[in-house]
Parts: sequence; C-alpha cells; structure tokens
Amino acid sequence: MSKRDYYEVLGVDKGASKEEMKKAYRKLSKKYHPDINKEADAADKFKEVKEAYEVLSDDQKRAQYDRFGHTDPNQGFGGGGAGDFGGGFGGFEDIFNTFFGGGGGGRRRDPNAPRAGADLQYTMTLSFEEAVFGKDTEIEIPREEECDTCHGSGAKPGTKVETCSHCQGSGQLNVEQNTPFGRIVNRRVCHHCNGTGKQIKDKCRTCGGDGKVQKRRKISVKIPAGIDDGQQLRVSGQGEPGINGGPAGDLYVVFHVRNHDFFERNGDDVYCEMPITFAQAALGDEIEVPTLHGKVKLKVPGGTQTGTRFRVKGKGVPNVRGYGTGDQHVLIKVVTPSKLTEKQKQLLREFADISGQVPDEQHESFFDKVKKAFKGE
Ligand SMILES: [Zn+2]
Ligand SMILES: [Zn+2]
Repeated sequence: MSKRDYYEVLGVDKGASKEEMKKAYRKLSKKYHPDINKEADAADKFKEVKEAYEVLSDDQKRAQYDRFGHTDPNQGFGGGGAGDFGGGFGGFEDIFNTFFGGGGGGRRRDPNAPRAGADLQYTMTLSFEEAVFGKDTEIEIPREEECDTCHGSGAKPGTKVETCSHCQGSGQLNVEQNTPFGRIVNRRVCHHCNGTGKQIKDKCRTCGGDGKVQKRRKISVKIPAGIDDGQQLRVSGQGEPGINGGPAGDLYVVFHVRNHDFFERNGDDVYCEMPITFAQAALGDEIEVPTLHGKVKLKVPGGTQTGTRFRVKGKGVPNVRGYGTGDQHVLIKVVTPSKLTEKQKQLLREFADISGQVPDEQHESFFDKVKKAFKGE
C-alpha cells in the first residue's frame, strides 16, 4: 500500500503551524471516526489521519519526516550503517515507496474538483415543555462563508486567478531529495498554492485570498413538538459552504432536554406520582391531576391501594412524527399520616378496634399466604 504524504492527508500546507494541524486533525478524525462514518474505508482513513498527526505534531518526528519522508525514524536512515538494514526494517515496502515517491496506485485528487462543505453540529438545551410542544427559534452559529467581496475566488475584484506556475495547476510538486540511498523523488502538496493549483497575485483584502470569511449567521430552526433528549435535527445546506462550487454541508442540531420536577417521560408517554390520603384511598375521591395539557379530574375508587396506576389517555407527548399523542400514567401513593392530633388518634384506635387484626376482608387470602409463609408451608 502506498502511503500518502502526511501533509496531504491532513490537507495542510507544508509550513502549517501546530494550531492549523490540530484543527485539521480534529475535523478529519471526526469525519472518519468509524463510529460516525460507516463507509468501508473510513477506518483506514481514520488510521491514516491519526498517524499523520502523530508524526507532524511532534517536532522531532516532523523534522525527520521533512527530511526523509515515510520511514520509521528509529530504524534506519539516521544512525547506523547498511548493517542495520536486514533485521530492523519493518517495511521493505515503505522504503520502496519512498524511493518511488509513493506514486504507485496513489490517487491524484484534482484540486479543482467540487467538494462538499463540512457538516456542523450544534447542541441545544430545551426545557421539558419546549421539547413537548416544540418551538420556532433562531440560533447563531459561527461558520465559514463565501467572501462577498471576491465571491469566493480570493482575488481582488478586477484581477484574475491564475494557474499556479510551480505545479502547473496540479496542486502537487515532485520534490527531489538526497538520501543515503541516492536521490529520491517525493510528490508533495505544492506549497506555493497550498494544493489548490491556483495562484492569486492580487489577493482580496477582505478575506486575504482565502475566498472565505468567518461569520456568525442566524439560522431559524423549527423544533418539532415531541422531540426527545438525544435526538437530532438536520438542517439541510446550513453547514459550511462547498469548495469549487460543491454543495454546502448540513447543520445538525442535537437536543438535550432538561428533566421536569413532576413529570417523567418515556417515549411519548408521561409518568407522574400523585399522593393521596389514607381516607381518600379508602373512601374514594375525585382528585385533580396536573398534566402537560392542563388539569384533569381523576376518579379514585374506594379501596385504592398504593402503587395503583391510572392511565389518562391523550395527555402525554405528541409524537414527533405526527402519530398521535401519548398517555399520562398516574401512580397513586397513599401517604400514611405522621402527625396526628389526639382526636385523630382516638378515632383511628376506634377504627382499629372495629376492624380487628385483618385490615380488610378482601385481603384475607393475602394474609393467609403470609401466615403460611411464617409456618414454612
Ligand atoms: Zn475575498
Ligand atoms: Zn502550485
């Protein structure tokens, strides 16, 4: 396998600063991360980017690479003599490719070919209710945009973009180097034109010849009702602009939804707990339950146990794709009174006397089971 030039892999100029390389590396490693990119060769590209960055971000390794190209600096060229050759060299193929400039099957990318702009990601935090009901909002994102002054050409208005005279527009140069093995030829990104194949004599003053400027742009986003935590929305064509007339990237808005004090959400259904008194549970009552769509009345029948669930239909979250609305589930919690007046205690004692040991005839069978369990039957 022929190795591509590390600068080319990162898409940076040979004189690139550490900051520029870091930026390029972050962008590319995200783009090709095998967890994100499902293309067949993504893993290889990811590895290639990582390797290139490891070498170029290390001053010593970078200097070695600039001088010798793709060789392991620890094995070979630098020190020892020809004697080291046989055993140590991991990749015979590597040397071979170094000599022939990595040319073999290497694809040459046309610097003028249209390329799609990068996708952008924006994280937005929503309140529970905002996620349930959706909202129209505006977000402001920094992104690169085509320079208005030169319309992306990078040339001062009235002047022309010329073909790079150093690489004749190919964006690449053959660099001859002397090594202990003789002269070798490497193909490198043309540093006169940064691989674009173009030369701008009179640079646009607004963008300094990049053809792009950083702008903060307002984008309106329509958040659909029912969006949930972790879901994302693609805003087509609102990423970074394309290169050489390629399509713009997309903007992905990722949502984070805050928790609610009272409601809990699971898909389109909403859950809540309602405390009721012992008397309400025993005698039955009509209670008011808050829902996302206003209060509703709920009939609690006499003899309701703690842990009983009631379903209030259609009071949940609207489905984000428009398939109806979820339900609200109400979990009843019977609260045992902890502070009783003398009179209340008196009445409860009387109640207990009348009721006897078994609190409820309906539960006789249950208490039978308890008794059996104690006897070990
Ligand atoms: Zn410009
Ligand atoms: Zn050039």
